[in-house]
Amino acid sequence: MKSSNLKNIKKEKKSNCKYIFVVGGVISGVGKGVAASSIARILQDRGQTVTAIKIDPYINIDAGTMNPTEHGEVFVLDDGDECDQDMGNYERFLGINLTRINYMTTGRVYQTVIEQERNMKYGGKCVEVVPHIPLEVIRRIEEARDRIKADVVVIEIGGTVGEYQNMLFLEAARMMKIKNPKDVFFVMVSYLPIPSKIGEMKTKPTQYAVRTLNGSGIQPDVIVARSVVALDDKRKEKLAMFCNVPMDRIISAPDVDSIYDIPINFEKEGLGTMICDVVDMKCDSGDNLGAKKWKAYTNKVHNAKKELQIAVIGKYFDTGDFVLADSYLSVIEAIKYSAYTSGVKPVLTWINSVEFEKDKSAVKRLSKFDGVIVPGGFGSRGVEGILTAIEYVRKNKIPYFGLCYGMQLLVIEYARNVLGLKDANTREVNPKSSNIIIDIMESQKELVATNKLGGSMRLGAYPAKLTKGSVAVKAYGKDVISERHRHRYEVNNAYVERLTDKGLVFSGVSPSGTLMEIAELPTKDHPFFLGTQFHPEFLARPLDPHPLFTAFIKACIKNK
Ligand code: GLN
Repeated sequence: MKSSNLKNIKKEKKSNCKYIFVVGGVISGVGKGVAASSIARILQDRGQTVTAIKIDPYINIDAGTMNPTEHGEVFVLDDGDECDQDMGNYERFLGINLTRINYMTTGRVYQTVIEQERNMKYGGKCVEVVPHIPLEVIRRIEEARDRIKADVVVIEIGGTVGEYQNMLFLEAARMMKIKNPKDVFFVMVSYLPIPSKIGEMKTKPTQYAVRTLNGSGIQPDVIVARSVVALDDKRKEKLAMFCNVPMDRIISAPDVDSIYDIPINFEKEGLGTMICDVVDMKCDSGDNLGAKKWKAYTNKVHNAKKELQIAVIGKYFDTGDFVLADSYLSVIEAIKYSAYTSGVKPVLTWINSVEFEKDKSAVKRLSKFDGVIVPGGFGSRGVEGILTAIEYVRKNKIPYFGLCYGMQLLVIEYARNVLGLKDANTREVNPKSSNIIIDIMESQKELVATNKLGGSMRLGAYPAKLTKGSVAVKAYGKDVISERHRHRYEVNNAYVERLTDKGLVFSGVSPSGTLMEIAELPTKDHPFFLGTQFHPEFLARPLDPHPLFTAFIKACIKNK
């Protein structure tokens, strides 16, 4: 950290960079991240170089130490940052790779300030919450801007206005506005309820939210009004009158079937032109090649009629269906991109593997699916049930795709039922097993023993070499790949030869040859039986579906 960073607010900004802050009103979970991603997308389609930042007001340094049922999926970046699922939305909507500077938490900001204080970087000054915390927030925004020489930085402030937690981030935004009045733009994503007994869409909560935001010295330039249905003019008039926002800057954002329609809807509402006008930015008309490709993808989503039945067998099911979609967001999106692009509509069924532990014969229900996916996971709960499911789909030739834990369990199932090592297991589940097929990585032992668990897994992008003639190399169309990881355990090399002799192919290995990255069965033995130690879902994009997901979907279509 350079001491000059403390003066960054005075530093010359890139001449024409614009900062779009997205804040939430009334309730959380109304799609602020998707709204921010969509704004970023439409400006990118208007010829701007756009980057995005997510601010999470919690103390955690990253999302890696949180249970997915707590805060949704932990998304992983190329550089190994474990962050909020909204970062995945940004990468998918923009088709770019972000870095850890694009993700901010209260913990991170304070950690930097405290480290700098300990290193005498404040030159003997009293270090205070204001201004030093907001200044560090601003420094991070500027670093993200400079990294890609952005024309536009979209910054999503997590939580809703009026919360104690995000106040210092709003203060940073206010300070930026004062410094660059023409370059800073505020979007309030709010919610308009329709109470069932009243049957009328109510604007009052949004009015209060805007007033609360005003209390932080911020006036929204635009209100994105989320509701079940579109706003009528009466609602727009009310919001305009009581929130001090011109009527044409109230954007109606009703619920949609596909989130990928949102950038298109925003453009229809005039949001792209409006932002460019207000911040005085020269923009293209918004119908460039990127926009055309986006439109073509959304058409595929709407036109796909033939259904593909896919079972996802997992364990983060405790808090009901709502949490599910969040825990496995990238997996769901990756399936959709490959399915829609292949002309089919995926129908996902969530199966709690504990079901197969209570009654092994229940596994027969998998016969009615076109394919089965086992996503990543941790710990022992439900593992035996997953192994029962993998045995069934292997023997019944139902396409199987295992992601991380799903790959490790694929290898264990093979060791148990093909090699006959009945107690084969992962050290994570049974350290006493005499056949530890999946073992802790050497580099992880000390970390786990001393409880250094935050941000310490094997994280982020690593290369792998693919085997000639394999299912994997055919899917990728190249023999060296780079994929994102998040794990502590790996295939135990002591068993690789025996597994290989019995027909399992390790078709992706680390360049040193020591880490097994992909396990598969050849197509002569199974239509698709493949697992990856990495998480391919983190690199799937709507306009660039992941080759392995596409290969899996194609096998499912064939299996139909
Ligand atoms: N629990 C396994 C490991 O740590 C798998 C992790 C995962 O699925 N992300 O290696």
